[in-house]
Amino acid sequence: MQFRTIPISMPDLSGNEQAYAAEAVASTWISSSGQFLDRFEREFAEACGTAHAIATSNGTTALHLALATLGVGPGDEVIVPSMTYIATANAVTYCGATPVFIDIDPDTWCLDPQKLEEAITRRTRGVVPVHLLGHPADMDAINAIAATHGLWVVEDAAEATFATYKGRPVGSLARAATFSFFGNKIISCGEGGAVTFDDAGLERRMRMLRGQGMDPAVRYHFPIVGFNYRLTNVAAAILCGQMERREAIVARRREIVAAYAGELAGVPGIGLRQDADWADTAPWMASCLVDPGLFGCRRDDLAEGLATRGIETRPMFIPIHRMPPYRDAAKKRRTDLPLTDRLGATGIMLPTYPQMTDDDVRFICAAIRDISEAHLSRRRRAAIKRVATGSDRADLRLPRAA
Ligand SMILES: *Cc1c(COP(=O)(O)O)cnc(C)c1O
Repeated sequence: MQFRTIPISMPDLSGNEQAYAAEAVASTWISSSGQFLDRFEREFAEACGTAHAIATSNGTTALHLALATLGVGPGDEVIVPSMTYIATANAVTYCGATPVFIDIDPDTWCLDPQKLEEAITRRTRGVVPVHLLGHPADMDAINAIAATHGLWVVEDAAEATFATYKGRPVGSLARAATFSFFGNKIISCGEGGAVTFDDAGLERRMRMLRGQGMDPAVRYHFPIVGFNYRLTNVAAAILCGQMERREAIVARRREIVAAYAGELAGVPGIGLRQDADWADTAPWMASCLVDPGLFGCRRDDLAEGLATRGIETRPMFIPIHRMPPYRDAAKKRRTDLPLTDRLGATGIMLPTYPQMTDDDVRFICAAIRDISEAHLSRRRRAAIKRVATGSDRADLRLPRAA
């Protein structure tokens, strides 16, 4: 058995990132103001097609800052997918509000607009769709329903920086959008985030809330309780380096995901997400579903097999409505999210980063086929029967809900 160490993710810092960070340090502007911060906020807003971008200390604080600026508070409900990183729901909780979970679309794996209406109550204030794994949610449909009910929409674009929806960049598709620049995201500065928006009315309050509530006109006067959610100039310097190479980074990530799709297309029991024709993705983690009956073993056995060959993977997100802080309230509401549960139980994230070679992808996919065959041969009789009955489908998909 071959062995090769392939991590799940790695930031690509091979451009001017080091030089700019050193420049920030040499300038002594290492705290939360400086030329790299101004430059990054200007360039990021431009890339997202918005009037404003405000840099934050991470993607979670970006979410909390956006929701706090919109006035989310105790008693409010905010509709979110359960199939996402925990931060989406936690940010709602920080505001004293309640996240209400709805199911995903079987094709895009993002919040299903058709499930939105039935979750709206008189307490609902807004919706936070997540552009999951780099694929934009169906924003026109979500915005139309939200508008009918007087709700705001905030995009959680943490996993999809520079993706586009019908040709428009994510970040510009709702009242506000939030981003993460954690080490494994599309672009990174270690820990960082941003909020983008057009509405000039939001900017003053958001900047005040980010900076401890300080009055922009009167230094050290604090008319409101804010947070310290600022980003440093050193981190912004790294982001300025990333911005220069963002097109190459996204293009390479797309190539890697396409290479996986090509290699895995015919493997029985492996299901891939189909990109919507209105989506240009900014792939975060290449992912697939594992149907144990057809593949020969469970998702977790596949992960273990890959780990012994030196290939790091990650299980798909455990649905948030199953997590201890949220499960009792979700149960009380009779939350039932079959597609979210199925993706959570069978999905796996595979190594995805720009420095990966095509040969790395081939190595990983060969290992996946190998693990499948090893399990299937032990159950040859069952496998033969399956093929004979024609239930072997290469295009495994999440089933459409009835
Ligand atoms: C990564 C991520 C976040 C949080 O970002 P951090 O920078 O880690 O705080 C929020 N939402 C989603 C969907 C994410 O993937």
